Amino acid sequence: MSDPGSPVRVRMAPSPTGSPHVGLVRTALYNWAFARHHGGTFVFRVEDTDAARNTQHSYESLLALFEWLGLGWDEGPGVGGPFGPYLQSERFDRYADVATRLLDSGHAYRCYCSAEELEERNQRARAEGRAPGYDGHCRDLEDQQRASYEAEGRRPVTRFRMPEREVGFTDLVRGQITFRAEHVPDYVLVRANGHPLYTLVSPLDDALMDITHVLRGEDLLSSTPRQVALHAALADIGVGSGRLPQFGHLPYVMGQGNRKLSKRDPEANALGYRDAGFLPEGLLNYMALLGWSIAEDRDVFGLDEMVAAFDITRVNPNPARFDLKKCEAINAAHLRMLDDDDLAQRMVPHLQAAGVLPTAVTEGQHELLRRAAPLVRERMTTLGEAVDMLGFLFVDDAELVRDAGDVTKLLNESGRGVVKAAHDALAELSAWTTEGVEEALRRALVEDLALKPRNAFGPVRVAVTGRRVSPPLFESLELLGRERTLARLVSAQDS
Ligand code: GLU
Ligand code: ZN
Repeated sequence: MSDPGSPVRVRMAPSPTGSPHVGLVRTALYNWAFARHHGGTFVFRVEDTDAARNTQHSYESLLALFEWLGLGWDEGPGVGGPFGPYLQSERFDRYADVATRLLDSGHAYRCYCSAEELEERNQRARAEGRAPGYDGHCRDLEDQQRASYEAEGRRPVTRFRMPEREVGFTDLVRGQITFRAEHVPDYVLVRANGHPLYTLVSPLDDALMDITHVLRGEDLLSSTPRQVALHAALADIGVGSGRLPQFGHLPYVMGQGNRKLSKRDPEANALGYRDAGFLPEGLLNYMALLGWSIAEDRDVFGLDEMVAAFDITRVNPNPARFDLKKCEAINAAHLRMLDDDDLAQRMVPHLQAAGVLPTAVTEGQHELLRRAAPLVRERMTTLGEAVDMLGFLFVDDAELVRDAGDVTKLLNESGRGVVKAAHDALAELSAWTTEGVEEALRRALVEDLALKPRNAFGPVRVAVTGRRVSPPLFESLELLGRERTLARLVSAQDS
């Protein structure tokens, strides 16, 4: 049993298949916060024993995801640690050795049943109203029977012998959970070809790596009674720490309707948030809320606050609904907390990806971005929006593309007249400041031409930024500078 005095060791144990799911972010975060709260160790173990489904690309995506999130691990790929290797594909010799010891000690046995035989007996059980699942056929084979199966050329799987009594444990999130023995049949640990399965390697590595708490998604709850029984068998043969980890199963994450958020849902792709320009702290804050809250009246917080307050026993066992709008709102709140410098830095990769900024950003471009930060900070939900909002600052005057629809609408004959008047007023301006620009434009357009503000500034905005929607106009012109603004006001007159 878990020793309350022992240092906390938790792990995340993803399998590198497909692109990482956003649910993994929550699992990783809760484990990380739990470890940090208790001054424990956060282990990253890669469950890559299924060579047919694992890909290098997927493994690299996992590393990229956690690097972006900034959730660092204390043991695992890249950092090593005393319980390595941390890739299960490098641990097959250990699994084979323990499987043999489980067989030798009687905790496991060789099962020769074919898939067809198992299926047939399952169908019969169902027809007779008995629980389906392995029926114990090979539990106590005589040597002679075994020899005749071998002679037939059958190759056995290694099957775990479940104790014939109910299995219970206290879940940190859901309280006492008990499974009746007939609901947890003997199960396969090693395939006939010698390949060890998740059922063996995951709990075995938890034992070997001295994991004290297993915090993971509710989808794995049904495997827990098997794992509890396997831990007892491992303790019995002296493998691992001999202590049963405590388990905590995190609530399902639901998508639209009443369905679990599945790998196919676009919101499920964790790296999609990075690419769209979420902040790691924004996504992590939102993911934390899927089952946990820091306080009744507050849902925006930083990781350090989460670490200080995190309590796994206060996780809500009810399914949590993933709400993209709420996720965006939380992200926007974090964007507003960034200072100019930080916001500018974080916009750079998005502007580069869109081709707005070159790979080598000049000091002048950095400075312009820093000065633009206050104009967009309150208006953005994600950093990706910087491309549309600020692109006009970085494009060459000659290459500014004005939206054709806006041009027809706003830069018609009267619009071009407005643009000319704006040009002439601004050309005379002595000090190029936001206030100066505003004053000159109001005087020339609203007072002298008696235009409504919308009719006055709409054409100027399209002429200078190429768009009908932009950051505040006068500030934008100040940032763009006198020469570039005037050049655009000239070229707009022939568009
Ligand atoms: N490798 C398992 C998965 O990706 C997780 C195992 C566990 O957390 O126990 O679903
Ligand atoms: Zn069998």
